[in-house]
Amino acid sequence: MATLQDMGITQNQLDSHWMAYTGNRQFKQDPRMICQAKGKYYFDADGRKIFDGLSGLWTCGLGHGRQEIVDAIAQQASQLDYSPAFQFGHPKSFQLAERITEFMPEGLNRVFFTGSGSESADTSLKIARAYWRKKGLASKTKLIGRGKGYHGVNFGGISVGGIGPNRAIFGTGVDSAHMRHTVLPENAFTKGQPSQGAELANDLIDLIAMHDASNIAAVIVEPMAGSAGVIPPPVGYLKLLREICDQHQILLIFDEVICAFGRLGYKTGAEACGVTPDIINMAKQLTNGVVPMGAVACKQEIYDTFMDEGGPNYMLELPHGYTYSAHPIACAAALASLDLLEKEHMFEQVREMSPILEHAAHQLGQLDLVSDVRNMGLAAGLSLVHAPGESALNPFLVAQQMWQKGYYVRYGADTIQIAPPFNVSAAEIDSLFNALGDSINQLSGQA
Ligand code: PMP
Repeated sequence: MATLQDMGITQNQLDSHWMAYTGNRQFKQDPRMICQAKGKYYFDADGRKIFDGLSGLWTCGLGHGRQEIVDAIAQQASQLDYSPAFQFGHPKSFQLAERITEFMPEGLNRVFFTGSGSESADTSLKIARAYWRKKGLASKTKLIGRGKGYHGVNFGGISVGGIGPNRAIFGTGVDSAHMRHTVLPENAFTKGQPSQGAELANDLIDLIAMHDASNIAAVIVEPMAGSAGVIPPPVGYLKLLREICDQHQILLIFDEVICAFGRLGYKTGAEACGVTPDIINMAKQLTNGVVPMGAVACKQEIYDTFMDEGGPNYMLELPHGYTYSAHPIACAAALASLDLLEKEHMFEQVREMSPILEHAAHQLGQLDLVSDVRNMGLAAGLSLVHAPGESALNPFLVAQQMWQKGYYVRYGADTIQIAPPFNVSAAEIDSLFNALGDSINQLSGQA
């Protein structure tokens, strides 16, 4: 096995990096380095091939090392490597903004660029508050999220988010309230969108009764919640949320950082679910994960509300943005990625492979230590029995076992998460889930 020295890393270098979303102490005892990626595979320091069962972090649906993206980045870096804001623009960002609107539901035709999913989440929440203020309704500031929701790690995102550990140690957040999540015991092992639970959207009515709509700016939900373990929305749930938001003048934000650009077999989760929000957040698949970039698309009426201001026309309509908003290299990567998604009919491929993934995932529902299986599009989440006791199974250990078998999957809370590249084959799906079944059996001592 390759040593640190073989990888050209010193112990001090290893210690210098405070790694993100990683148990640093564990990692540094047993460093698992990814050294190369091509197509559907990663390669470790020994050159061992590892199937990418999560498309990076839900990012690389087109596979790794796509030459078209590499070329677009190289060309852009040599032509224009950086471009400032403050009354300057560059052509690619305008081309990309329009291109993105071709993927968005009708009417979401104004695009603000960010550098990540977390920045998209906080940007959308700030736009919502500023929008109501502009309309003379400055008291509409409260933000509504949901249990198990994940909207990144900035203060807005962790405030509306519903994953306790991401929030608990960081002190007071932004004024927010939460609806319940939609994982119901009666829906366990449902294939695709569950039939029970649409009425959970009425939690919003309870929150309106408690806080008053005159104080509420927006509701933010993931159409399919990915990070908490692939939670598809109950049939009718998002439509009911939309109706309640309309009745009470509350903006509806879909956080589509995972869903947008094909994971559910459609351009957006909104399209997959047949519900149009006021704002859509995106990142990840936008550039195929190759360069960090996010974006927020909103209805034209929201944009126009900011544009009809009197005063000097050089005044910032929205004093918000990032040094890397609309970065030229990210724009070039995104334009190349979006072209590939269409040229290679990726959404159709996802729709074709989704039932095969569904079947393979639910086969594992028969295992004693699997307490739920959920799926939507080309994504599946398996909950493992996690009650304290001898029968509990730690998903971290399962993911580690999978790595040893040559498969990368993600663990999170009590779940294993799977989201293979869009052009995955039936045979690859079968072998991945066979390996997962074997890993679970081995760890539960049944093999
Ligand atoms: N929102 C959602 C729905 C996400 O899934 C994620 C990332 N998994 C984020 C926001 C945060 O994105 P980033 O890590 O790029 O900041």
